[in-house]
Amino acid sequence: MSAPLLSLRDVSKVFWLGEREVVAVDGVSFDVSEGECLAIVGESGSGKSTIANMLLGILPPSSGTIALRGEPLPEHRTLAHRRAIQLVQQNPLSSLNPKRSIGASLRLPLDVHGIGTRSERRKRVEALLEEVHLPAEYSSRSPAALSGGQRQRVAIARALASESELVVLDEPTSALDVLVQARILRLLKALQKRRGLTYVFITHDLSVVRNIADRVAVIEKGRLVELGPVEAIFTNPTAPYTRRLIAAVP
Ligand code: ADP
Ligand code: MG
Repeated sequence: MSAPLLSLRDVSKVFWLGEREVVAVDGVSFDVSEGECLAIVGESGSGKSTIANMLLGILPPSSGTIALRGEPLPEHRTLAHRRAIQLVQQNPLSSLNPKRSIGASLRLPLDVHGIGTRSERRKRVEALLEEVHLPAEYSSRSPAALSGGQRQRVAIARALASESELVVLDEPTSALDVLVQARILRLLKALQKRRGLTYVFITHDLSVVRNIADRVAVIEKGRLVELGPVEAIFTNPTAPYTRRLIAAVP
């Protein structure tokens, strides 16, 4: 059998706040297969963003291993690793340069990673905009001229631009109103089908993942308390914490 795209084995992260030890992530293991959407769900402070930052290579784990296609992630972020794993954050403005046009923001990863010839890059930017259903003329606009949902589409397009292998979305729809949120979720589902996009979708809101996740990992206080197919999580949750999260779903 081929190695999973991503695998975490007994991964922990400890922060020190003065004398006090904070175990943000505590012995977490899971795999993500190619083409899969794995949701990571847990309350605020449960360690989700810390997991995201370790996948991105921004934070090194205190112990345990993270491997991409069976290869442990290097200690320091390499260009190849930056290209392979992309992050979409809750607030796209924190990663989109306000002075750069949308087109320039999408072009940057193509330039950095040497993707396509110079003349191909403009076409690629157009194709990326089309893929996230934004009109081509948005290329010349600044992020400030876009709505929250449109900015998040740009952030998703940029995560795809580098021909990444895995996209990690950390609360990508939490700041959006319900209708806009539903459209972004539909887009991600469509990209998964069309492109074979593999992604980790992180949220505090279990109800959001019902229609998009293949499997759900439930995290409580840094520990993985449940992992299984999305329907099994909703119909037959085993951990008391998961039952509480389900009870909170409106
Ligand atoms: P979530 O994304 O699920 O809300 P986080 O991963 O942001 O949770 O945080 C998990 C725990 O780790 C929290 O208790 C948080 O205060 C702590 N934490 C996160 N980042 C740091 C840091 N850089 N220094 C110290 N503690 C941190
Ligand atoms: Mg977080």
